Amino acid sequence: MTQTAVPLVEVRNIKKYFPIHPGLLVKLLAGRQDQMVKAVDDVSLKIWPGETVGLVGESGCGKTTLGRVMVRLHQPTAGQLFFRGQMVAGDRIVLPPHSNGQPRPPASQIIFDESASISAPSANLAEMEARHLSFFRLTQIIFQNPYSSLNPRKTVRDIIGVALRQRGLTNSQESEAETLRLLKRVGLSERHIDAYPHQFSGGQRQRIGIARALAMQPQFIVADEPVSALDVSIQAQVINLMKELQQEFHLTYLFIAHDLSVIYYLSDRVAVMYLGHIVEEAETQSLFEHPRHPYTQALLAAIPVVEKAARRERIVLSGTVPSPIDPPAGCPFHTRCFAKKGPECEQKFPPEFEVEGHRVACWLYE
Ligand code: SF4
Repeated sequence: MTQTAVPLVEVRNIKKYFPIHPGLLVKLLAGRQDQMVKAVDDVSLKIWPGETVGLVGESGCGKTTLGRVMVRLHQPTAGQLFFRGQMVAGDRIVLPPHSNGQPRPPASQIIFDESASISAPSANLAEMEARHLSFFRLTQIIFQNPYSSLNPRKTVRDIIGVALRQRGLTNSQESEAETLRLLKRVGLSERHIDAYPHQFSGGQRQRIGIARALAMQPQFIVADEPVSALDVSIQAQVINLMKELQQEFHLTYLFIAHDLSVIYYLSDRVAVMYLGHIVEEAETQSLFEHPRHPYTQALLAAIPVVEKAARRERIVLSGTVPSPIDPPAGCPFHTRCFAKKGPECEQKFPPEFEVEGHRVACWLYE
């Protein structure tokens, strides 16, 4: 892993809220108002070139939403996203002006740029557009479900060919040669090129998804639980393949998983999420050996260990994760915390404290 002065990807104070609009009748009869699901709430994270950051937490804690914000499948509600030091999504929306009779771009192509203004000259807009397009090429995602993430009507040639065309490879012979090269690299063969997704096993489909991501020659890949839908024996093959590809293509990963053994094996650093917040972040070895946040301690205590000597004391968390629609005041974990410090836990949101290389959001370390 090369540590440069600028992180490859950085999110600063990112929020992603999803509105819920109850129907008119529900509003009138039950008096319910519009609400917000606070899926990601004020998260900051840096990912350096060549490293793998593991993102863990219970289902519904916001891991997938954060990953999708990082590749701009979701636009952030607030905060900023930087790629190679340049802001690619941010607080202030700047709509390119209607110029030269061109229609305003669709919402998905709205460019966020703090430094630009509504009256930005077209040269700036062209530069912003180039930055925007290179971001989408250089950041890719591998989805959790290999069954639904491939178009069942397209052959492997078509699926990978779309990505290659986006990359600028329009010659059909070159495109076929590159498709075959990618298929071989991910462990498939020439005979698979004209097959449809339903003709493959789960592991093979995930390999196609990986080949599709590689076709864009990305620098950053969000792997969203890429092995959780696969058999255990296949999981190991896909994980090892991803590790090899990282070395070969100098990739940087955000690896989202709830399986802590996978995270331990793959990650250089780990960020632990709870109810839309990162509650602890540290180097993998240090986090697994000396977890600081009570939630991290509970998560690690739940890992089954065969050797008796290595077993941790079991921590059973009471209750369930609160709703992200109406999160508790103070520390988001206080409703289940077994180490509560005092009234401040219920009153004030804990800031981040630096504890021996760990970033921990907990009043215990004040
Ligand atoms: Fe527990 Fe308080 Fe720390 Fe939250 S801030 S994890 S409630 S001790």
